[in-house]
Amino acid sequence: IVPRLRPFASTVFAEMTALAVRTKSVNLGQGFPDSDGPRSMLDAAKQAIDDGINQYPPGQGRPELLDAVAEHRTRYGTHYDPASEILVTTGATEGITAAVLGLVDAGEEVIVLEPYYDSYAAAIAMAGATKRVVSLAQRGEGRFEVDVDALRAAVTSRTRAIIVNSPHNPTGTVFTRDELAGIARVCVDNDLIAITDEVYEHLVFGDAEHIPLTTLPGMAERTVSVSSAGKSFNCTGWKIGWACGRAELIAATRAAKQFLTFVSGAPFQPAVAHALRTELGWVERLRDSLSEKHDRLAEGLAKAGFGVLSSAGTYFVCADVRPLGYTDATELAWQLPERIGVAAVPVSAFAESGGYEHLLRFAFCKSNEVIDEAISRLHQLA
Ligand code: PMP
Ligand code: GLN
Repeated sequence: IVPRLRPFASTVFAEMTALAVRTKSVNLGQGFPDSDGPRSMLDAAKQAIDDGINQYPPGQGRPELLDAVAEHRTRYGTHYDPASEILVTTGATEGITAAVLGLVDAGEEVIVLEPYYDSYAAAIAMAGATKRVVSLAQRGEGRFEVDVDALRAAVTSRTRAIIVNSPHNPTGTVFTRDELAGIARVCVDNDLIAITDEVYEHLVFGDAEHIPLTTLPGMAERTVSVSSAGKSFNCTGWKIGWACGRAELIAATRAAKQFLTFVSGAPFQPAVAHALRTELGWVERLRDSLSEKHDRLAEGLAKAGFGVLSSAGTYFVCADVRPLGYTDATELAWQLPERIGVAAVPVSAFAESGGYEHLLRFAFCKSNEVIDEAISRLHQLA
């Protein structure tokens, strides 16, 4: 492995899932749902295969999916030309990586807000760029917040872009309009590109609202908005995502995408288009059910003795292990499968600075039985 990719030889999610399988643990580590997406979407994929949609689709993506994404984004008041301002990608992962590769030159800097999803650092390394880390600050009841002053202070003359993930993995923070406005001002003042990761856009609970950064003043011309079908429609294995932005930003993203994968899964594209057009009611029910599962897991973790942090969206809730008498959640995470048959992910895996050593991330995108079984096993820690 070349030095710049050496830190990325394996991912915590894959390793923890392998350990969970080996120890027959309840897996609340890697975030993937244990039930399928809407029936009509699954049928549409089968139909597409039967209809012979099995060869290379167009490079930009199949027209029905480009149209469906454009129409879907109008819910935020944003308008894109499907022919030039939307690109279908192999999941959000490829969309983000291709945007970084196409828009950031070697030696330039990209800001990430820590804790951050692991693929961002790898994408920046692949581009030969430098990552600059700004930590989210934990306030009040444990909500992680953007420190706009720290963000502004991290910008240098070499900074080209920032990656912004909201709803945020692993903390479940949904950035407020004020926080986004602060980020937007830093971007505009310093002529930065924003690459947003909105894969949990539909999975926000209670009063929280997903606001795409591109809708803030001055951001439309400098934002590549990335999302995907995996989390909205319980099809994380289909790997159909999309990037939206001004034509020159999408052309740059496409320049990289076409030599990473060229095109993305043909028969899944009409199926996802169908789901975006007709199954948003299903997604609302999914969101409501995940909100209940969040409460179920959060209450269970609190009863088992954890300090539970607030989470307003995503699949995840973070918990403090110190009330149980532990200090090192990373060490604990690697012991839990053997000791009590539960897998979780240490938040330290999303961070390089200190300050997250006491936190575990638990996924609640699972059946109630699985959540309850995990909670009952976690009681053995007390
Ligand atoms: N971003 C975040 C924040 C994620 O949690 C994930 C994991 N699903 C991804 C991106 C990857 O999305 P996809 O599977 O569409 O590539
Ligand atoms: N997004 C998922 C998580 O955070 C994992 C996806 C992966 O394994 N790369 O758990």
